[in-house]
Amino acid sequence: MGQHNLLIDYVASGRRISELDTFAEQLWYSDCDIPIPLRSLERESVYGLTSVLLIICEQCHIVHKVVTNKTPVREEDTGIQKYAVNYKVATAILDGGSGEVQINIILSVLNIPAMTSHFIKRYERTIDVAMEHVAKESCRDIIALNKKLTIEAREQEASVNSLSTNYNCML
Ligand SMILES: [Zn+2]
Repeated sequence: MGQHNLLIDYVASGRRISELDTFAEQLWYSDCDIPIPLRSLERESVYGLTSVLLIICEQCHIVHKVVTNKTPVREEDTGIQKYAVNYKVATAILDGGSGEVQINIILSVLNIPAMTSHFIKRYERTIDVAMEHVAKESCRDIIALNKKLTIEAREQEASVNSLSTNYNCML
């Protein structure tokens, strides 16, 4: 996990947003056949709305890494790992026309770790690029459809003209 995403690194307190099935699945240590207890949390690293928790097994004392949300997608160009939940909040900020201040007010009222504007911008930039790509694709589709319809219309016109010529010859 690259340090570039890391915002907070401390022993957890407050609330978090997590995907329960993903989270719950990791809270069992099959080697010791016992649950990994949250009370043995050693450290938390926060990446936007996702936390990476280091928890010690109470039986064998091995440190386990538990992630509160689904496995991140690694960006091909930068190698940076990004979580879907953070994309979702960045998309909501863009769609809702709000900003870092508004979202952080909500997060701090809920006692959820805030996100820096730099962190949010990084996700927004990726979304912008994706939206631009979709818009270009849509434009290309429209141009291709327009071309196809124009060709069909010309062919139909030519066919009507040809019929008309043939009919005229018969007179
Ligand atoms: Zn153990």
